[in-house]
Parts: sequence; structure tokens; C-alpha cells
Amino acid sequence: SRLQPYCVFTPDSVEAVSGAIRLFERNECKFAIRSGGHMPKRRANNIEDGILLATTKLNQMSLHDGYVSIGPGLSWGAVFDFLRPEHLAVVGGRLAEVGVSGLILGGGLSTYSGKRGFACDNVKTFQVVVAGGEILEANESSHSDLFWALKGGSSNFGIITRFDLHTHPDYQLYTAAQSMGLEHWNELAEAIDNFTRLRSTWEGGEDMAISPKVHTNDSWSTQNGTGLTVPPALVDFANLPYNKSESTGVSVRDAADVLSRTSTPYGLRYELRVLSFRSSLDMVKGIKTIFEEEFRSIFKNVAGFSGVMEFQPITKHNIAQGSARGGNALGITEDRAPMIWLVMANSWLNAEDDEAAQAAGQRVVDRGQTLARELGLFEPFLYLNDAADNQDPIATYGEENIRKLHEVKQKYDKTGTFDRLLPGGFKLPGL
Ligand SMILES: Cc1cc2nc3c(=O)[nH]c(=O)nc-3n(C[C@H](O)[C@H](O)[C@H](O)COP(=O)(O)OP(=O)(O)OC[C@H]3O[C@@H](n4cnc5c(N)ncnc54)[C@H](O)[C@@H]3O)c2cc1C
Repeated sequence: SRLQPYCVFTPDSVEAVSGAIRLFERNECKFAIRSGGHMPKRRANNIEDGILLATTKLNQMSLHDGYVSIGPGLSWGAVFDFLRPEHLAVVGGRLAEVGVSGLILGGGLSTYSGKRGFACDNVKTFQVVVAGGEILEANESSHSDLFWALKGGSSNFGIITRFDLHTHPDYQLYTAAQSMGLEHWNELAEAIDNFTRLRSTWEGGEDMAISPKVHTNDSWSTQNGTGLTVPPALVDFANLPYNKSESTGVSVRDAADVLSRTSTPYGLRYELRVLSFRSSLDMVKGIKTIFEEEFRSIFKNVAGFSGVMEFQPITKHNIAQGSARGGNALGITEDRAPMIWLVMANSWLNAEDDEAAQAAGQRVVDRGQTLARELGLFEPFLYLNDAADNQDPIATYGEENIRKLHEVKQKYDKTGTFDRLLPGGFKLPGL
């Protein structure tokens, strides 16, 4: 994101986006698309030898019967703020400052995902400018193949200029954020595994979300559920020995602020890197040991290094919601859940340490996958929104889905505008 584009274009209408695409094509001009700018992958949202199209001015919002129309330049905080007076919410990001576009196009893990599926599963219509500058409305009944492909297919098919998202009542969320010393890690590991395999299937358990994190020096556990008191499915977390604790019944917007406080500060060298596995106590404990072993020398030698591992449980109910709403391109089926998407969010100070920090992260993934195989818990899926530069998430969507994505691409981007002229982002793998 520190690259210098030739210029930054900030269109204020869908027609202006359409005109830009035609101009880029006519002049073989490379471009990048940026919405919230949160994807740390190099060149995903900026470019050195081309034009940056920033969606900042496409920030319209309007409420309709059962859905809200939002522009791609918005952050989730702005959307939640807009809906709050109406006592409504959407399945969106867990942190207020993240952009709506990238998150939806990669899937979108939300506080509400256990109950309502991923953010992409809750899109009613995408307005999208495809190659040639054509403006399309993609939904269940119009361009349904493109509608499906955009639910996980990222920036490979066009520029989204409007998302229509289903709304639901903004009920009170029990939200707890608690920190504890790493000497209590074993108890936290047990709570994570218990929740993932068992408690999330309890009655009402699908309403719960947990985001436990292990930092370099301590652990943070954040949980959400319905109501004002500790929901039964979260009782293991409530009983952990904390040294700091904050719990309250709040709206999804306030919950996003609570989560932000446990997040990595901005302005540093930063990467996300992801790994999936099915849960067991040995696996949860084992991955933390691997993380410590691989980062031991990095902690000492890389200036300002901070390492975070976050365990994100994905339940059967979560995945079933996607299928019930017409399916998405991610290619995960219920029989593979529950699983954990483990994301590392690591940061450090200086560019000369990039290679060492990133290589250590990749070793955690490699060894984690080996351990998962040994324990019979291997899961190949790599979540695009949390993937690192060298990871190839769409290649893990399954053969059938990759073939379908290529067919959709062939139909809507015949001349390869979104490959040839858009070098950044996660691409479709070869067939
Ligand atoms: C602090 C932090 C918190 C996060 N929390 C969550 C979370 O709770 N849940 C979750 O699932 N993920 C989360 N993520 C990951 C996040 O979803 C991805 O980084 C996502 O890509 C961010 O979207 P953005 O619009 O901000 O990013 P951008 O970097 O602007 O865009 C990401 C990708 O989408 C493309 N793109 C952007 N806008 C458009 C458009 N209008 N049309 C077509 N392509 C477009 C870009 O070219 C780029 O390839 C988090 C990341 C961070 C850094």
C-alpha cells in the first residue's frame, strides 16, 4: 500500500466507473482497486505502474424493505451507524474500520456468521461493472452465475459499485473481552476446542461467536452471544482466570469497537496468514507450540515484532446458511465442519525484516498442516480474506468450483481485463 500510482481516480458514480474501465481497456492501462484498503497483500489495493481507482466517493446508503443498499467505499462502522437508529444490522465485519467490499468479496466472517452465514451469503444483489464497461445487476434471478462467483471470487470479475444486503433486527449482544497471562493458555485452549466441537451445537449456540487470540505476551478472549448475561455455550470462557475483563450487552457497532481494542495497531509492516484444521485439544495446543518455536528467534531479532494467532471457529450451522441462501464459491461443505480458520496477524517495524518474519509465518502453516495430517484433522481450505501474499486461496475452493469460476470468467471477462490490467489481488488458479 506504500506504492506510488500514476494517479488516483475517485469516481462518484457507476457511470464514471464504467467509463474508467473502457478507458483502461482502450489504452491498455493497468489499474488497482481499493475500497477499505485493509488487505495486506502486496499490490492488492495499490499499483506502481498504473492508476489507482479508489471507491471512497461511492459511499451512498439507502434503506429499503428488508435490505440496505450500500456503496463499496464504506466501512462497516458507517453501515452499522446508519442502521442503528432503525434497530437493524447486517452480516458484516467484526471491526468497524474494515472496508465492506474486500470483506464481502472474499466471504466475510462476521459476529453473526454462526447464525446467518458469511457476509457474502447475505448479499441480495451486486451492482457490478464488468469488462467492456457494462453495468450489471447480479442476483438470484439475473446473472445468477456471476452472483455466485462474486461470493468468494474477489476482484476477478468486475468492480462492484453497489451491494444490496439483507438486514435483520439489531438485537443486544452479550460481549466480553478478557485478557489473561499465557500461564492460563491450557484452560483457554480447552475452552476453544470445547466451543468449536461441542458448545456451538448447543441450543442457541449458533448465536455465539468467539475470537480468542494469543499475543506474544498474553491472551485475549472476546466472545459474543445474544442477551445480557453469559450464554450457556460461552460458560467455559466466562470461568477463565482473567486479569482484565470487560463485559456488557451492546449493539453490534459497540461490539466492533471492543474487538478493535484487541487488534494490531496500524502503520507497521503487517501480514495476515491463514491455516485451517478440524479441532481437537492436541491440535489447538500443538499449533501454539509450533508458533512459539518458529517465532522464538524472530521475537529476539526482528525489531518491534508482535505476533498474534486468532482461532476462528466455523460451524456446520454457519456453512449450512450459505447453502440455504443459494451457495457461494468457497466450496466448503457442512460435513467438513466444525473447523478452525487460524489467522496469524503479525507486525514488525522494518522492511528489511519482511523475509524473515514471513518465512517464519509460512513455517507455522507448513508444520501446522503436517500436525493436522498426523492427527487426522487436515483441512485444505485457505480463507482468502486472511491469506498471505504467497498463499493461493482460490486454489482451495475445490476442482468443480474452480472450473465453474473459469466458466463465469470466460463469459464476463472474455478478454481478461481483470487479469491483464489488474495485476493485484488473489487470482483464479490455472485449470
Ligand atoms: C484489522 C483487520 C480486521 C479484519 N476483520 C475481518 C473480519 O472480521 N472478518 C473477515 O472476514 N475479514 C476480516 N479482515 C480481512 C478483510 O476482510 C480483508 O482484508 C478485506 O479484503 C478487506 O476489505 P477492504 O475493502 O478493506 O480491502 P481492500 O484492500 O480495499 O480490498 C481487498 C481486495 O478487494 C478488491 N476490491 C476492493 N473493492 C472492490 C470493488 N469495489 N470491486 C471489486 N474488487 C474490489 C481489491 O482490489 C483487493 O484485491 C480483517 C482485516 C484486518 C486488517
